[in-house]
Amino acid sequence: MNPNERAAVLQPLSPEYDPWDPIRSLRRLGRHVLTSVEFTVTNLCNMRCEHCAVGDALTMSEGVRVPLADVLKRLDEVEHLETISITGGEPSYQLKTVKDYIVPLLRYARDRGVRTQINSNVTLDLSRYEMMAPYLDVMHISFNYTGADDFHQVGFVHSGHSVGREVAAGMYERMMNNALALSRGGMFVSAESMINFRTHEKIADIHRLIGEMGCKRHEVHPMYPSAFAANLPQLSLEEIRAAIHRLLDSRDKNMWMLFGTLPFFACGAAEADQEIVRRLRHEPNVTVRNDPDGRNRLNVNLFSGDLFVTDFADLSALGNMAADSFDAVFEAWLRHPLNRKVDCHCDAAACCGPNLLVADAYYRDVDFKQRQAVV
Ligand code: SF4
Repeated sequence: MNPNERAAVLQPLSPEYDPWDPIRSLRRLGRHVLTSVEFTVTNLCNMRCEHCAVGDALTMSEGVRVPLADVLKRLDEVEHLETISITGGEPSYQLKTVKDYIVPLLRYARDRGVRTQINSNVTLDLSRYEMMAPYLDVMHISFNYTGADDFHQVGFVHSGHSVGREVAAGMYERMMNNALALSRGGMFVSAESMINFRTHEKIADIHRLIGEMGCKRHEVHPMYPSAFAANLPQLSLEEIRAAIHRLLDSRDKNMWMLFGTLPFFACGAAEADQEIVRRLRHEPNVTVRNDPDGRNRLNVNLFSGDLFVTDFADLSALGNMAADSFDAVFEAWLRHPLNRKVDCHCDAAACCGPNLLVADAYYRDVDFKQRQAVV
């Protein structure tokens, strides 16, 4: 089968089918298993965003990657593999990375019926993204802007040198045009926005522009204090709730909206929490994804071979692919005291507990293992 024929027999991604959500494998197998592997393929990036969750890891040059054959061998061992994600940095920063690692990894996934996502800023040459198109399920882009001035203000804060408005505006335009061209070509472009101190009041305008770029999905996450974002102002739970209601009031109801890493749970005692959980549950074309980090996913650093529970946790490596299989490292993580802290599950609420960053940011004194869904 050629890539197009293979794609045609795969179940389309939809609000009813999101293979990244760990609740699916938990329900099917009765326990958390590794279904998702994320690869950090580069630490290079042409931007230095104010909020970058992996900002501390970004570099100006980088060394040699683990051989592709070793990576594929480790993937072969993952019994329940359902998704592969590729992240950076900007994964397509070097054409050679696209050719030597990204396309082969995507092709491997497509041959195995495994679904794929790449996280990109799509500000580089369109042809790099087109090379991935035959094998890619989700082109995941970040979009937190209402125009080129926002992009300029946010995108180069940690560059170490000033980037002129003209240059930034050119990149912004290319990003918009690339997203539109890829969408028109049939690619599933999913734009992620953060709810943070800059975006929470203009999230409806951001949503509108995402629709204009032809994106099939708008993904929304609150910003949490990781890496470059660690010193930015944190919103209150009330402000996050208000932004979500604002967005739901004004959104395009034909576009799939995926919320993730939310700090609101069906076990929340506050009436406002229960109200937003109920609303999100009943809105058409809206899903709330349980966070894959630590539930069904590991992150692999392709330079060191180190294995992490997420690409942005401060937690040290849990193992290394030279010595450990991915499944073995994931099993060890399930027994880790940090995981035990947040490893709850209320099936009727389709919830399998908070992300560690969320618990740390808003629920330090809460023992989720003692709570139960009430809505
Ligand atoms: S699974 Fe945990 S976080 Fe989710 S509703 Fe139940 S107790 Fe709360």
